[in-house]
Amino acid sequence: MSNAREPPRFFGFSAPHGAIGDFHGVLIDILAAKFYNERMNVYLDYAASAPLRREVLDEMLSSAELFANPDSLHAPGRLAAAALLAARDKISALTGGADVYFTAGGTEADNWAVRCLGEGDILLSPIEHAAVLESAPLRGGEQFFAAVDGDGIVSADFEHTMPESVGLVAVMGANNEVGSLQPLEELARAAHARGALLFSDCVQAACSQNLREIMRHADAISLSAHKLGGPKGAGALVVKKGVKLRPLIAGGEQERGKRGGTANLAAAVGMAKALELADAERAAFCRLTKALRDLFEDALLRSLGGRIAIDGANRVPNISHVTFAGASSPLLPLLDLKGVYASGGAACSAHAARPSHVLLAMGRSAEEAERGVRFSFGMQTTREEVLFAARAVIDCMQPL
Ligand code: PLP
Repeated sequence: MSNAREPPRFFGFSAPHGAIGDFHGVLIDILAAKFYNERMNVYLDYAASAPLRREVLDEMLSSAELFANPDSLHAPGRLAAAALLAARDKISALTGGADVYFTAGGTEADNWAVRCLGEGDILLSPIEHAAVLESAPLRGGEQFFAAVDGDGIVSADFEHTMPESVGLVAVMGANNEVGSLQPLEELARAAHARGALLFSDCVQAACSQNLREIMRHADAISLSAHKLGGPKGAGALVVKKGVKLRPLIAGGEQERGKRGGTANLAAAVGMAKALELADAERAAFCRLTKALRDLFEDALLRSLGGRIAIDGANRVPNISHVTFAGASSPLLPLLDLKGVYASGGAACSAHAARPSHVLLAMGRSAEEAERGVRFSFGMQTTREEVLFAARAVIDCMQPL
């Protein structure tokens, strides 16, 4: 997303995405960006939320005609119910034929899974999203934690140590701060060997990972539409057939009697469309965002070298998490002034200035854990924006 008054031009050099490997071109771009005085507004916070896609909005608008209550038995009600079923079936097909329960976003789906899947205690990773970490105590019983390495990868070595009382293991598909991808196949094997279910928060994994493949291992996953260009406040808990899920909200027969309340048809339809598009475009998304991320990181590393650390090794292509050593003042407000919009980690805890629990779990000091910045890329991100942002970061680091 760029609001420059004119399209950005770097001394006439504007290479297409495919030319990213051109080292000489990169150097020209970096030099050009240094002298580039036009203000750009560069949104690099797609992991917090991505813009609503036109195709999704169109689908949602067309569902507005189906205003009747999907639970009404008359013809308009049945039409709305059919549209809701079609959205559910679409998501089920994209997740290997699992049962789909619509929710009001990823947070609700996480809460539901953590409280209502499996019997007994829970084992979770310490790098989970707050929606998982903070709902775990509400489940009752004891909480146990899996080990995490310095790259933010959760270990499956609990296979031999996990108490028999644990009925649910919760490990996210991809971490929302550093982007680390978790070994779900191994984790599922370890959980199942001890008779526990595996739930995986796949809110961040869904852009770049194949959900059918993930559902071959996990017993349940949570999803959120707005990370994929769908509407906010729309999500789903997807549960493998035959796995027992306890109800979340009493008071109605909706969602198979487990979550009462009239369904939000537009949200369900929008979510299904966003997931369908993400699935169809997954390869292109990975290629594009990885190229942009590499360009961004190369530019930073060339200028800032040892003053930065790029976090996470095996990670999603669309997240670059950078820890800035020696930055004496917070970088995010400076970047904001320069028109570069990133975040310090999870958007939902962005207002609480405390060290990242993810970086702490990865073994970083409290000081380092306050200095991480997450830059995340989307299909709308351009090469020019990335170079502008890199230049802005480098400029912000100069006087420090
Ligand atoms: N889980 C992860 C990993 C997330 O990144 C987020 C959102 O940032 C959520 C859950 C919450 O999703 P929602 O915003 O739909 O409630």
